[in-house]
Amino acid sequence: MSESALGQHYTDVPWQRLVAATLRAAYAWSVRDVRGNAAMLEIAKMTGVVMEVHGPGSGPVTPAALVEGLRQPLAGLLGGPRQGPAELADVVLLDKEGNLTENAYDLVCEHVVPLRELAGAQPWLPTWVTMHSDQIRHRVFTAIINTTKQDEYVASRKFLVEHPAGREQELVEQRDRTGGVRLAPGGYRDIPEKQVYRGSDGRGWWWPCPDCKWPMAVSSAGKVRCRYRPHSAVYDLLPEARPKLRRRDDGPRALLPVSQAVEGAKCADAGVWRFVVVPGVSELRIAAAAERANAKVQLWPHRDRYDLLVRAGREKFAVDVKECLSFSSLIDRLRTRPPSARILLPKSFEWQLEPLTEALPGLAVTTETKFLSQVRAAVRKAR
Ligand SMILES: [Zn+2]
Repeated sequence: MSESALGQHYTDVPWQRLVAATLRAAYAWSVRDVRGNAAMLEIAKMTGVVMEVHGPGSGPVTPAALVEGLRQPLAGLLGGPRQGPAELADVVLLDKEGNLTENAYDLVCEHVVPLRELAGAQPWLPTWVTMHSDQIRHRVFTAIINTTKQDEYVASRKFLVEHPAGREQELVEQRDRTGGVRLAPGGYRDIPEKQVYRGSDGRGWWWPCPDCKWPMAVSSAGKVRCRYRPHSAVYDLLPEARPKLRRRDDGPRALLPVSQAVEGAKCADAGVWRFVVVPGVSELRIAAAAERANAKVQLWPHRDRYDLLVRAGREKFAVDVKECLSFSSLIDRLRTRPPSARILLPKSFEWQLEPLTEALPGLAVTTETKFLSQVRAAVRKAR
């Protein structure tokens, strides 16, 4: 996904303000044990935003009523003239235990826009509930890559995508071995407790997702799974002195992740993971497949004007990988900022081809499967 003109993403669109405020309130509620008063104050402020959007006579009027609303489908809070995209209507933000739901983590965050009056006000709130995805990307790329050299830019971004978590010592050694990599100070942080299993001896363990290598979420019921649902492997935790995982679903086969000690381990910030690492994994997978087909690939050319420039035989293809769980926000982005290359829908998103072509008939768009066959054909033709 290209990082392009940033602009101000503050919004006055009522449903967007409601989505931003309800996600912030839900996050605050989910960490109230740790954050105490600050969390309750945040929920109170978000109640104010929700009340202001709803106007007198409708919607929740107390923090308690707002929290109750967060346990119901969002249609209740977004209903009537304030209605947002249909895909959000059935989404519930808080589960019975007061934790954020999977939908909150992977779908709703794609709709986040900062609230003008509250931007940057709460440093303990994670970026993915307070900032637009483009702002998160922009921050990473200007912070980690304070360089004009394209090869350092690519090396640094690739390193982050390939190493979103690990032992701090090993991350530093790998970075030094890779060369040309610049990382933001404080770019990695401690692994959040909800992605850690603590044994009865107090020792903590984490498991890298087989797809993205970021620590998977560990539920209190012992289910272990990546927060990004297209990374679909689900595991049961077997609590032992050194706990192990057992695959629960029967999806595509993947190696069993090995337990890693949490002590001394770090991972990328959740917003960086969701909006840089997750799409980056697809970008690198497609690049590697094109290289295996004997094409030459340039990653993120011209400082990321688009994602991949592929030279196959005598042909040249430029593509921009778009991995959006939210179909409505994908359309919205493409409408407001026309892409500078053909759009490529990665595996798991190929179903968007037809509706996308229907919604934007002039758009050049392909899928991972179609694109790679095109690359292979071009290589064969040149032989
Ligand atoms: Zn994952």
